[in-house]
Amino acid sequence: MKALPAQFAYILHQPSQRRNLRSLGMYFAFLAIVIAVYTVTFHWIMWSVEGQRHSWVTGLYWTLTVMSTLGFGDITFQSDVGRLFTVLVLLSGMILLLIVLPFAFISFFYAPWLEARLRTRAPRELPSDTADHVLLCGYDSVAKGLGGRLAVRGVSWFVVEPDPDRANELYAEGIPVATGPLSSPATWRAMRVERARLVVANRDDRTDSAIALAIRDASADTEVVAIAEDPDAVDVLELSGCDHVLDLKRQLGEHLAARVDAGVSGAHVVGSFRDQRIAEFTVHGTPLAGRTIRDLALREITGLNVVGVWKRGRLEPARPDTVLDDYSVPVVVGTVSQITDLESLLVIHRANFNPVVVIGGGRVGRAAARALTVRNIPVHVIERDPSLESRIAPLSDRLIVGDAADREVLHEAGLEEAPSVVLTTNDDATNMFLTLYCRKIQPDLRIVSRITEERNVEAVYRAGADFVLSYATLGVRSIFAILERRELVVIGEGTDLFRIPVSERLDGQTLAESDIGARTGLNVVAIESDGDAVTNPGPDAVLERGSELLVIGTLEGRQRFMEEYEA
Ligand code: AMP
Repeated sequence: MKALPAQFAYILHQPSQRRNLRSLGMYFAFLAIVIAVYTVTFHWIMWSVEGQRHSWVTGLYWTLTVMSTLGFGDITFQSDVGRLFTVLVLLSGMILLLIVLPFAFISFFYAPWLEARLRTRAPRELPSDTADHVLLCGYDSVAKGLGGRLAVRGVSWFVVEPDPDRANELYAEGIPVATGPLSSPATWRAMRVERARLVVANRDDRTDSAIALAIRDASADTEVVAIAEDPDAVDVLELSGCDHVLDLKRQLGEHLAARVDAGVSGAHVVGSFRDQRIAEFTVHGTPLAGRTIRDLALREITGLNVVGVWKRGRLEPARPDTVLDDYSVPVVVGTVSQITDLESLLVIHRANFNPVVVIGGGRVGRAAARALTVRNIPVHVIERDPSLESRIAPLSDRLIVGDAADREVLHEAGLEEAPSVVLTTNDDATNMFLTLYCRKIQPDLRIVSRITEERNVEAVYRAGADFVLSYATLGVRSIFAILERRELVVIGEGTDLFRIPVSERLDGQTLAESDIGARTGLNVVAIESDGDAVTNPGPDAVLERGSELLVIGTLEGRQRFMEEYEA
């Protein structure tokens, strides 16, 4: 039954089916006119020839009983004219109702509907030549982000949905989907799992474990990555045959904690690849505000490469004349020692050793608190669920049980004096409200927020957050890192690390000649060939066919690169 709206939507979207429905409508209109004319004629003959008066309902009743050949015989004409008229109604009724109507109904409605049912029915197997595809075991927020990005890179992907009705709905929406029970090896054989690049088990832990066991029965080698809901399930999922198990909530907490400012915070490392570290530092509280990237001369002094500047949630390309302001957070790439050199250069005028406030003591909040404690940063946690007390207490200096929307609770946690707040509640609206509220209480506070739906990212930034990361983005990035066999680098929403082969048009050019930065906004952080890499390449580095560029930038930048250099 759930599939009916999808089938009607399909019928209404097809021009030929719409034409069929129009024809059926016209036929019904013609039939209605004929019935009306017969009803009026019935009255006229009855009154003028036979001298009888009947109601309009009786006229309609007589016409339909005669046309449908039912003929109860309770109302009849006595005159020849009346009887001839009865024969005409009877014969035309036989043709219109008993012959043409079923034919019109079948050809203009029933057959198109049967076709729609077939067309909106998700397949039970994938074509036999399907290969190098990615299989996703559900269409959740991670799958949505992943599907879009896989499509941009030309990798085919399919959702395997066990509920046929849900699968049909997705199919009608144009999502590549197939259906079958997830715990059956036969389903996975039908999904050509042995030739798949990767399977993402993104349902609940028990189902994911059954999925991995079924896949191992169908294919020993296909890589399987599971997203664990509970950290205790990680071992079981690995035992079931998953090659990678992602504990996304823990990772999310750790990534948020990495963006926290506390104490005399200088630069903090947010990711790494090869021997290189990606670090950020806040301009606020240093004498750098008002200066340009050229003035900083970081490459000349430390060898570090400034790859972008966060300005209220947007990573802008770092051009020599980009001016830093109080809210800028430059992102640099370099070795550990180069970052240490940068820290010694940063003169922090405003150190704040007060505790960082973590709002929400669920899995994300606890992971953030743990990561901050490891950095010797004092933490106060606000959690409204008292049953989590025993789990939060060992990870925090103080736990305040209460609703964070209550100003008294925030005051008790020390928000007015805190250097940073980490918002980790599982409700986007609450995180937005708290962002506005905390910004109002303390304009200089660094606000780092979790978000569930990617579409809310912009709104949280607009509310005043300094850094936002969504569960879905982290999931998508983690799975891409596995797919491309590289380290996971999470710079922020909308910004990614890409690996791009050097195209023919770039072969032999130096980095300066290629003008990649100015034309695309992408920043080349390494050139790799045959497993070796030149990290942080200078403007004289030569690009050669066969090597790959590791670049940092946005998806739009990646697309501009395609248009400029790969077309
Ligand atoms: P998790 O998704 O496991 O990180 O859990 C999120 C946590 O945020 C849960 O433990 C919620 O009780 C907590 N939470 C949600 N809203 C609030 C709030 N307004 N104040 C305090 N804690 C909250």
